[in-house]
Amino acid sequence: MAFLANSGRYDQMTYRRCGTSGLKLPAISLGLWHNFGEVDAFENGRRIVLRAFDLGVTHFDLANNYGPPPGSAEENFGRILKADLSGYRDEILISTKAGYLMWPGPYGEWGSRKYLLASLDQSLKRLGVDYVDIFYSHRFDPETPLEETLSALAHAVRSGKALYAGVSNYSPEKILEAVRILKTLGIPLLIHQVKYSMFMREAEQGLFDIHEREGVGCIAFSPLAQGLLTDRYLEGIPGDSRASKSHGFLKPEDITEKKLSQIRALNTLAARRGQSLAQAAIAWVLSKPVMTSALIGASRVEQLENNLRAIDRLSYGSDELEAIELVLRS
Ligand code: NDP
Repeated sequence: MAFLANSGRYDQMTYRRCGTSGLKLPAISLGLWHNFGEVDAFENGRRIVLRAFDLGVTHFDLANNYGPPPGSAEENFGRILKADLSGYRDEILISTKAGYLMWPGPYGEWGSRKYLLASLDQSLKRLGVDYVDIFYSHRFDPETPLEETLSALAHAVRSGKALYAGVSNYSPEKILEAVRILKTLGIPLLIHQVKYSMFMREAEQGLFDIHEREGVGCIAFSPLAQGLLTDRYLEGIPGDSRASKSHGFLKPEDITEKKLSQIRALNTLAARRGQSLAQAAIAWVLSKPVMTSALIGASRVEQLENNLRAIDRLSYGSDELEAIELVLRS
């Protein structure tokens, strides 16, 4: 039966302006890095995407290499778009990226114009769309002039194959340069995608100040530290978890005793707020004034639903923040 979206889908979610642009992102966005590849159950991924859309998640984040195998997450999302969401394209923000290894030879990764524009064309084909909303340089390429990488993004926007330009995993210095270069090209830098969570704080060292000063949006990826900041690993490593999968990017050795004791203490603090640890971790990321959106992953609908309820309580008291800092320093 044809999918009919929930008419109340915009009632719970909040939307935040992306930097100084005209675009608003949902406070919580969904990423398809894990759980949406050819190796995963398609119907499960489809249920997650449709439930997310029904709960006000308008932004879905992809990259050329998401799978495995690379490209298959875009293909699967394209199937869902075509079968279920084709009537809702104007209500959906799709992002994709290029930067990591996608095909053999000298033009299959990094930041050359040759690679980026070919990759975008391939992504559009896999997704089955005429344009993506945001096209990202997935990582800074030290061997390609930044002007070349960014002029490829600007070209993508001018040609109508992308509506906005973004970058990911850039240092504060390179973000500043990128802002300046894109300004001269007449295409503003919409957004920077950054790894940020209670366990990953590097972005606080200068990056957030630049986002704020330059009016660049900020979206935090892996706000749950790939599942560590949930109750997933409290009783060991479940057989269906990311840490137990050979293609998962979270490795069992990342789950140390020290981490586990911090996770247990954070779990107790979250319970005091009346939240799951996942909800508290998302709320914590979103409590940073610079944050446009928390970009989560989910392997099942129940996780997604639990995570989206973070919205019910976003604010943190200074005593709560101090208690978290104490745990993270322990
Ligand atoms: P998260 O930190 O949100 O981790 C998601 C994982 O946490 C899920 O797959 C699940 O793991 C577990 N989880 C989620 N919710 C719950 C819950 N309520 N209870 C228990 N466990 C839960 O994000 P990701 O690491 O998945 O990254 C999110 C997105 O960020 C990616 O899809 C991608 O779009 C983007 N990203 C961008 C990068 C870049 O370089 N620009 C790099 C990495 C990610 P399990 O599978 O074990 O159930």
